[in-house]
Amino acid sequence: MTAEEPGAYTIEAALDLIRDVPDFPEPGIVFKDIAPLLAHPAALAAVVRGLAAAGRDEQGLTAVTHVVGVESRGFLFGVPVAQALDVAFVPVRKPGKLPGEVHRVSYALEYGEEVLEVQTDALTAGDRVLVVDDVLATGGTLAASVDLVARCGAEVAGTVVLLELGFLDGRAALGDVGLTTLRRV
Ligand code: AMP
Repeated sequence: MTAEEPGAYTIEAALDLIRDVPDFPEPGIVFKDIAPLLAHPAALAAVVRGLAAAGRDEQGLTAVTHVVGVESRGFLFGVPVAQALDVAFVPVRKPGKLPGEVHRVSYALEYGEEVLEVQTDALTAGDRVLVVDDVLATGGTLAASVDLVARCGAEVAGTVVLLELGFLDGRAALGDVGLTTLRRV
């Protein structure tokens, strides 16, 4: 097998690798499967460059101090984005996974409730944070993560996702917080 050429993928071509899986994990949901994108290193690199641009200023310089990634697919993209920007990565996790003191936010799902946590010493006042996830659906997950950053006393510089499911209007849940999406569907 030959290595892929760096620069072989545009962001658009890379996003085209994401596969629609109808009726997964339940009837009526069209699941966005990122596995084919993860399987192509040059495509993944193109997407990471695109996401990382949300953490840069007009001169291309890093404008954030931290990247927050949301468990679990936000980790896959958040870590390489933090590396590309040369800043710290902070995980936001499902409940009971992080040791020590945590801030905790719960938010409503269609049925039931979800909880997310961040370590209280992970961020502090003066930090400027880029929050990364793969898909924006109803916006609850990203809004809860933004809330956790604020509870640490840090500032959310912006949020970024690969795909925004426009018909769900998740953007509204973010209020004034800036959202960058590589593709809106
Ligand atoms: P939400 O909180 O409704 O915006 O949902 C966003 C979270 O759920 C993200 O972490 C996504 O990974 C996941 N998610 C929601 N809908 C989908 C979908 N159609 N395909 C893949 N992942 C999804």
